[in-house]
Amino acid sequence: MAIQKVLIANRGEIALRIHRACHEMGIETVAVHSTADADAMHVRLADHAVCIGPPPAGESYLNIPNIIAAAEISGADAIHPGYGFLSENAQFAEIVEAHDLIFIGPKPEHIRIMGDKIEAKTTAAKLGLPLVPGSPGPLTSVEEAKRIAAEIGYPVLIKAASGGGGRGMKVVPEESQLETLMQQAGSEAKAAFGDATVYMEKYLSDPRHIEFQIFGDGNGNAIHLGERDCSLQRRHQKVLEEAPSPVISAAQRADMGGIVAKAMADMGYRGAGTIEFLYEDERFYFIEMNTRLQVEHPVTEAITGLDLVREQIRIAEGHPLTLRQEDVEFRGHAIECRINAEHPRTFAPSPGLVKGYHAPGGMNVRVDSGLYAGYRVPPYYDSMIAKLIVWGHTREGALKRLRRALEEFVIDGVTTTIPLHKALLDDPEFQQGEYTIKWLEQWLASQDA
Ligand code: ADP
Repeated sequence: MAIQKVLIANRGEIALRIHRACHEMGIETVAVHSTADADAMHVRLADHAVCIGPPPAGESYLNIPNIIAAAEISGADAIHPGYGFLSENAQFAEIVEAHDLIFIGPKPEHIRIMGDKIEAKTTAAKLGLPLVPGSPGPLTSVEEAKRIAAEIGYPVLIKAASGGGGRGMKVVPEESQLETLMQQAGSEAKAAFGDATVYMEKYLSDPRHIEFQIFGDGNGNAIHLGERDCSLQRRHQKVLEEAPSPVISAAQRADMGGIVAKAMADMGYRGAGTIEFLYEDERFYFIEMNTRLQVEHPVTEAITGLDLVREQIRIAEGHPLTLRQEDVEFRGHAIECRINAEHPRTFAPSPGLVKGYHAPGGMNVRVDSGLYAGYRVPPYYDSMIAKLIVWGHTREGALKRLRRALEEFVIDGVTTTIPLHKALLDDPEFQQGEYTIKWLEQWLASQDA
């Protein structure tokens, strides 16, 4: 069915990103917003706008009855959830479908399976994806935890079954600390996610984070769009992403990509998804699947030339995949910087009035952001205010272009992490692509010393 009007159940740059794809497809958009976002760019540009509540996300962007009511009032026929907020809420997807609206996303049962990290791992194993060694299911007792840890070897990692955003994880260096840290992880998980269930994985000492973008049509066909390297992280949060990974060969890409695409085809997966792996000693270990569009999707768009939101919408309309695997071509190198309204050293949030704004431009430079001069960054939401994506024929060319684009970028009034990205670009190890998931925190510590 051809979608005519999409309600975008999100805010900020991703709401704008979705709006842009819709308009290029001749689809009308409905923005929903909290009272704090009445002046946001996505609200200004959308064809229709509905206020769905006060600033706290729980009362607005997570308020399912208000969002469904907004869809009905505005006559939308589909809902795009973006990332974060309700994007991985299976119940929301079911409610959307129960109201005869199209959910631009995966089948609710697949969101549910992959949202439970333990079930996700069991499913991944059945589908033939390699796992990190660990507990086969939830940890039920300290004795069991001790036994498994002894088998796989310390250090081990205790992770929350309902975890996300890197929260609720504890590294256990040795047996004497297992009981205490397991209890801490459980109570933190309970507080953050309302679920104290934890499981165990071998703690990989120095891996990279490498994820594969996939698309399925829901009818047993799936393709992969290569990998993204997201190893530059602070507190398990991604800071800069690139595609392709500096350490993955074309043969490895084709092998692992083939395995993930087959897994998704066998599952009957529908829409966009990302399979995340840790990568160490030339081996991949599945950690989780995200059943949505990712923040870093533009680097994949840059090297494949595909518009991933358009692809999502077409699949939601019931079309087959635009490309066959053999038609997917990877060209050049792309890098994305996440620019946050945060102090570049202390990472303290810095919301407030944007007094001046100038986005970089020129060849192969893309800025996804809802900022403008006079906009006030509200204190209620995620601090990411812009994404800068550059493309070059080679990684070296992309790095040069990134430096030039960062030099042009002006955001006055709020403190941003632009200086952090500039400093990173000066580092020889980063320039060589020699970094793992631990590298950035060590680098930050060395800068402070
Ligand atoms: P979340 O859903 O909370 O983001 P993930 O399972 O995706 O949790 O892990 C987030 C990050 O934590 C990974 O990118 C990696 O940096 C680190 N991590 C996760 N599992 C392991 C592990 N077994 N060993 C080492 N680091 C890990």
